[in-house]
Amino acid sequence: MTARVLVVDDVAANVKLLEAKLRAEYFEVITAMNGLDALEAVQQDQPDIILLDVMMPEMDGIEVCKRVKGAASTQHIPIVMVTALDTAEDRVRGLEAGADDFLSKPVNDLALFCRVRSLLRLKMLTDELGARSVGDGPGGAGDFLSPEDLDRPGKILLVDDEDSATSSIYAALQSGHEVTSVAEPQRALFEAAENPFDLIIVSLDLQDFDGLRLCSQIRSLERTRQIPVLILVDGHQTDQLIRGLDMGVNDYLVRPVDHNELAARVKSQIRRWRHTQQLRNNVKQSIEMAVTDSLTGLNNRRYMESHLATLVQSAGNRGRALTLLALDIDHFKQINDTHGHDVGDRVLKEFAKRVKLVVRGDDLACRTGGEEFIIVLPETSLPAACGIAERLRKSISEDPFDLGLSSGPFQLTVSIGLSSLDSVSETPAQLLKRADIALYEAKRSGRNRVVAAAA
Ligand code: GH3
Ligand code: MG
Ligand code: MG
Repeated sequence: MTARVLVVDDVAANVKLLEAKLRAEYFEVITAMNGLDALEAVQQDQPDIILLDVMMPEMDGIEVCKRVKGAASTQHIPIVMVTALDTAEDRVRGLEAGADDFLSKPVNDLALFCRVRSLLRLKMLTDELGARSVGDGPGGAGDFLSPEDLDRPGKILLVDDEDSATSSIYAALQSGHEVTSVAEPQRALFEAAENPFDLIIVSLDLQDFDGLRLCSQIRSLERTRQIPVLILVDGHQTDQLIRGLDMGVNDYLVRPVDHNELAARVKSQIRRWRHTQQLRNNVKQSIEMAVTDSLTGLNNRRYMESHLATLVQSAGNRGRALTLLALDIDHFKQINDTHGHDVGDRVLKEFAKRVKLVVRGDDLACRTGGEEFIIVLPETSLPAACGIAERLRKSISEDPFDLGLSSGPFQLTVSIGLSSLDSVSETPAQLLKRADIALYEAKRSGRNRVVAAAA
């Protein structure tokens, strides 16, 4: 993984050192030696990540961080604060200013590359998810979580064989989060799959079990693979730490664990997790919006056209029946004219609800235009579909639409035309056309009726 890294520090030797380490790993490095130059470099070179010294004369790192995170065009760039003062306040101030992570000087190589790579992976994911959801700008449009939402208490699974009554880590976590403590790895995996945890913390010095095995199981299980994992290691467990990071563990802490660092790392992992989950939801929503009619929640015409082609082909290939219903509400214009467009919309929603009651899982129900609908019934013969259409017609005409208006409930009717796939060579367009002709016949012969097309 390569990327452009901006290194900011007012001490030339520190810049040189970080630059050398990063270049040795084939990162592209740009540098700045004060806050203002850093902000200019951010604008000009759009780095993928910033390593930012906290203590600098004039404008300090906290201020630079606030400005980068405060501007829409740069707020998505991850920032790692590099703190000389190894104090809790610095870390907390950094996170509050919007920093994504922090490193202590002197910078340990493993820590450096663990945090840089993990943030870069996250940024790539964020950029991609943002590009795939509607709207513009990094992260796309859609809903965003406020800082309060990102930082509200999380659900944490702690896997450690130290008794929770005496565990200081458990106690420290418990003060800000809801913690489930489990000593037995199989139990932990079960818990992780069954509950919506925001973070899993795994100790690597479990008595009778290799904690890394659990991490690998968490990473390979569909329901848990995305959940952030933080491991607790002893100072001598460097090999295990490297293997853990290789398998996608998100962060680590070395025992004895500093409680402030624990709090800060947990906070930033949970924050990132919530942010990416929100982005995933936005993408999912965009995909749904593209295929859904927003008024009724049924599929839209675009989706119908692409999906009908697939269904027709599959029915043709397998020699199965497929029937299509074309629906058009009778005299709908009168409802708009008499009661207004809003009432018309409410009628359409109620109509769609009744359509949903007759369709099954594999059926395709769409609103294709104003008061026009298409239902596709795979594996359904013409006579069976006529029965369904007749039931739907009755459910509309025999049960008036009560919208709670002073003028009373509406008497509504619908006309339905049907066509069944009658040869392997029939195209979706021909099938639609025949249903349309049948629908026209239903209208012409008096409305509120079901007409099946001749083969
Ligand atoms: P017919 O029995 O011949 O189908 O008569 P009709 O009045 O239902 O058919 P027509 O095609 O003449 O009118 C359809 C009306 O549907 C006209 C249009 O104003 C209304 N319409 C189309 N889209 C919407 C919508 O999204 N909301 C509402 N409220 N009305 C809509
Ligand atoms: Mg119409
Ligand atoms: Mg109509």
